Amino acid sequence: MVERLRLSQANRKRIENIDSCFGTQGETLWTEGRVLVGEGVLMKACRKKPKPRQFFLFNDLLVYGSILISKKRYHKQRIIPLEQVQLQDIKDDGNIKHAWQIMTRGKSFTVYAATEMEKQEWMLHINRCVQEVIKNGKRPASEHAAVWIPDSEAPECMCCHASTFTVLNRRHHCRNCGNVVCGGCSTHRLLLPVSKHPVRVCDTCYNKRCNSNEISVPVPSTAKTDYTHFETDESEEEDGEDKPVEDNQTTFYGSTEPSTSTTL
Ligand SMILES: [Zn+2]
Ligand SMILES: [Zn+2]
Repeated sequence: MVERLRLSQANRKRIENIDSCFGTQGETLWTEGRVLVGEGVLMKACRKKPKPRQFFLFNDLLVYGSILISKKRYHKQRIIPLEQVQLQDIKDDGNIKHAWQIMTRGKSFTVYAATEMEKQEWMLHINRCVQEVIKNGKRPASEHAAVWIPDSEAPECMCCHASTFTVLNRRHHCRNCGNVVCGGCSTHRLLLPVSKHPVRVCDTCYNKRCNSNEISVPVPSTAKTDYTHFETDESEEEDGEDKPVEDNQTTFYGSTEPSTSTTL
């Protein structure tokens, strides 16, 4: 009982500490019943290269942010409800080591752990927590956003293979398949099951969707506002300094039972 209380107080302190690290930049994460299951730094694949991000696994959320000062100051908080999360293993291959995909409704991405053991631990804990929230009645997401191919893997348009990218001929990402394509090969917008607004898709996906009579909403070229919104989102990863993280320690905490849980 005392042990339980101690654990719950320790848990509250940890979460309140995370809140203070994000400051006004983030939502308040501490709430009765929320448990911090684990935390640590993972490399997150961004458009240009993988960047360190501080990840927090709660019993109901996965949260991450950019690191301004390790363990002191985080910003750009992202909150993902666990029922939306689905993991996909990536086998080691050349330079790609200890990686897996975190698929969510709004955004899917690849992360890299420092060691195989860390990767296994993260995947195990995330999967366990996801199963738990779904068991408790949350509806899992049936659709997940495409994982974007990093810019470096596409020297040329993956659609026409004729267009090479320059400062003027920019790369674009198809929101349906994640491929890197040129502007000429991505003139259409579609309302995808995972998007609130019509979003950029490559011609291959556009034709496939239209031919298969799936939900396809061709967007008139006047629908500029939403497009701008997503273009902003596209470059969102690139700003901000990313200092190397020295203390790259991953911690998983013992009890994952919410202190206030009542036995059902
Ligand atoms: Zn092209
Ligand atoms: Zn596509």
